[in-house]
Amino acid sequence: VTGAARVERDRLRALLEREQAAFAERNPRSAAAYAEADSLFGRVPMTWMNKTCAHFPLYLDTARGAHVTDVDGHEYVDFSLGDTGSMAGHSPAPVVEAVRHRVEQLGGLAVMLPTAQAQAAGAELAARFGLPRWSFSLTATDANRWAIRLARAVTDRSKILVNSYCYHGSVDESLIVTSPEGGAPRPGNVGAPVAVTETSRVAEFNDLDGLARELAHGDVAAVLMEPALTNIGIVLPEPGYLEGVRELTRRYGSLLIIDETHTFCAGVGGATRAWGLEPDVVTIGKAIGGGIPAGAYGLSAELADRLLGREDLDLIDMGGVGGTLAGNALSIAAVCATLGEVLTEEAFAHMHALAERFEAGVARVIGTHRLPWSVTRLGARVEYRFADPAPRTGTEAAAVHDQELDDYLHTYLANRGILMTPFHNMALMSPATTEADVDLHSRLFAEAVALLLGPDA
Ligand code: PMP
Repeated sequence: VTGAARVERDRLRALLEREQAAFAERNPRSAAAYAEADSLFGRVPMTWMNKTCAHFPLYLDTARGAHVTDVDGHEYVDFSLGDTGSMAGHSPAPVVEAVRHRVEQLGGLAVMLPTAQAQAAGAELAARFGLPRWSFSLTATDANRWAIRLARAVTDRSKILVNSYCYHGSVDESLIVTSPEGGAPRPGNVGAPVAVTETSRVAEFNDLDGLARELAHGDVAAVLMEPALTNIGIVLPEPGYLEGVRELTRRYGSLLIIDETHTFCAGVGGATRAWGLEPDVVTIGKAIGGGIPAGAYGLSAELADRLLGREDLDLIDMGGVGGTLAGNALSIAAVCATLGEVLTEEAFAHMHALAERFEAGVARVIGTHRLPWSVTRLGARVEYRFADPAPRTGTEAAAVHDQELDDYLHTYLANRGILMTPFHNMALMSPATTEADVDLHSRLFAEAVALLLGPDA
């Protein structure tokens, strides 16, 4: 049953319009800044910033810890945290200190010489994720792109397999979904270089038969996946699924690349450590830099040795792997401070307890009204969906998306001081988030739902 079954659409639309009008009224400075921004493509510095529940984005003024203020002077509890880029909280003191030291005392922001600190960053990532050889990028997208190239090179196979409705950044190979006729381009994809079926194969998350069928073609260099989908709502792996993926990738000679960019919320070593996974490659980005651009990929020793032993591969100059500013001294310093002093075991324990509290607050509302909705937690991340049981594949998750309902809840919350991840109903806890922050969400969510269901609820 989907949630839409219990929601009266006319009432929802009327409430959404009311909240959007209040949003416009409350935020004249943001509205004016947006109206003036005609030197920007789509009026924003990056097109995704047009993903807004009202008709213009809020403009940032300041951000500290788990809180953000906009240019109209409103303060928000930020459960979006830059869609995970600020999982460590906004400007955590150790990162600020490390960045300031690098910028002001040492200098050297774009020198293309290594710092000794990079070994410490690599060793910390190795200890957490269990893979011994690391390389750095500035984004998770690039970590994935480079991992894909290395996988193709070492296996001499052309295709990459991903899960339907996955997200791994603007990686061409990943923009494929399942369809009755087989793999198909993800709707709305912009400027695909070639038909995605030339480069990619696709299987549903939690579907080992589908995976085995695709891998049996023998042309898959690597499976690139999140250990739980997090970009189409949270879709958790069913018991035995991830073990099955590892078994099948080994059987068919495909590498396994685990993208921990979001699932890092599962613990200090992401889901890889929390669930004892054995990937050939881990990719990550966003949170590890504490807000400073940083990404990384880790390789097994065997894979690293095979790659370094291949004299035909140009890993040093024009091989299509690497970037001018990648591994720069500033992002390395930020990674060391973030991992060493902010996203620690203790911080994760705090974040997980808060996420449990958040989940319980949402579950209470769903239970009280017997709504056909569900709430799912992955470590420090919680998501509510308008379906019960929770979707078990990306395609199922995409099918229960309800834009108006999302927009209503997001606008209602924003008008009262809460920011959710704009892409769906996702909340992430940071080390700076408090119980009071979570309880504010629980109260406002209960109010928004009661209002939506009306006096008969
Ligand atoms: N991998 C995953 C799992 C992600 O969620 C994202 C971004 N949402 C990326 C990669 C890409 O990150 P970036 O846009 O910072 O390159």
